[in-house]
Amino acid sequence: MKAGTRLSKVKYAIRDVMLAAKQVEASGKKVLKLNLGDPNAYDFDVPPYVKKALVTALDSGKSGYCDSQGDLALRNAVVKQNSRRGFDSSADEVMVCSGLSEGLSMLYGAAMERHENVLIPSPTYPMYESLAHYYEFEPRFYSCDESNGWQPDVDDLRKKMDEHTRFVIVINPNNPTGALYDEKVLKEIINLAGEFGVPVVSDEIYDELYFGKKPVSMGKLAGDVPCIVMNGLSKNYFAPGWRIGWMTFLNCSQSPLFEAVNQVSRIRLCSSSVGQAAAAHALENEGEYAKFLPAQLAKLKPRRDLAFKRLNEINGLSCVKPEGAFYAFPRIESGPWVDDKEFCLDLLKEKGVLTVFGSGFAEAQGSKHFRIVFLPPEDVLNPAFDAIEEFMKEKGA
Ligand code: PLP
Repeated sequence: MKAGTRLSKVKYAIRDVMLAAKQVEASGKKVLKLNLGDPNAYDFDVPPYVKKALVTALDSGKSGYCDSQGDLALRNAVVKQNSRRGFDSSADEVMVCSGLSEGLSMLYGAAMERHENVLIPSPTYPMYESLAHYYEFEPRFYSCDESNGWQPDVDDLRKKMDEHTRFVIVINPNNPTGALYDEKVLKEIINLAGEFGVPVVSDEIYDELYFGKKPVSMGKLAGDVPCIVMNGLSKNYFAPGWRIGWMTFLNCSQSPLFEAVNQVSRIRLCSSSVGQAAAAHALENEGEYAKFLPAQLAKLKPRRDLAFKRLNEINGLSCVKPEGAFYAFPRIESGPWVDDKEFCLDLLKEKGVLTVFGSGFAEAQGSKHFRIVFLPPEDVLNPAFDAIEEFMKEKGA
């Protein structure tokens, strides 16, 4: 059967590399998968009080369709979460989605025309680029500076903006670099967006997972600039498979854009009703979360420290310290490979360690990099780093 041409440019490196891994596994080799940011694949799980809330929702007959914009209990709980992050909002400004992936798809689908563009950080989480190709408009990249801890280059952002720019995307903490953006840089971005009258879309899905300085929400800095703050259950609550996220439309909920997103949301009826009930409980019971989270960070931080130390000790690699999320984005300084894809494929075939090639996150800026997930315990990570070290030595890097 014939397929449409729309998908010809759509790639998703994080899952695409699995095909190569399957082939290696078929040859009888064990593969250690450090490609996917799924905490449930390791020793992280949903907070028990949130799991219980899901069961309660099931038992109390909450399995029907619910409001397309999102169940009011969850939207009210999101308003409270927003105020904990330092900004006011109302339930009318909140839109619930089946994960940020659906949220972004609804937003792009409702907003974008073919001749328009969206400014995306480079490197980026691939969804921002892939969905742009899917909706057939231009994903335009602004640089983040590796020599400055992968902070966004606001001068480059300014240069790339034009009258067809519809959104500026910010991912903080960042996937794949693990960077946490300085408040000063965030202020510069929001001011620039305000100057051009372009809304900022701020993906804050990792904002509870940080190792030092606390992330500042763009919502807190937005003032009167339109800003769509996105968050969800996938990372902070270790529930990526539940598919629950939310977007808060600050200073733009009275706009045709918001109405259009609402219209799109009605086409898909609603997000999981029981998931939303559990999410409302998750956000309402901040005390329970505050008891749960420190133990998770106490597991994750030593793994970040280990990844940072080991990657910088290996000849031929260097790595900026990840300040949030659970990824490192090391640079391949030397070695015989023609590009990052060859490096990752070689590493997979020879040592059975699956990572993602950097150009899957940024065609130019990631072309000498790879992304590695540091979610597994030390006794899994250490052999992986040993294998990478041996591999680099063998290749004369
Ligand atoms: N945004 C970022 C930066 C991510 O890293 C991911 C998943 O890895 C997502 C969004 C996807 O979010 P969701 O599970 O809510 O669709």
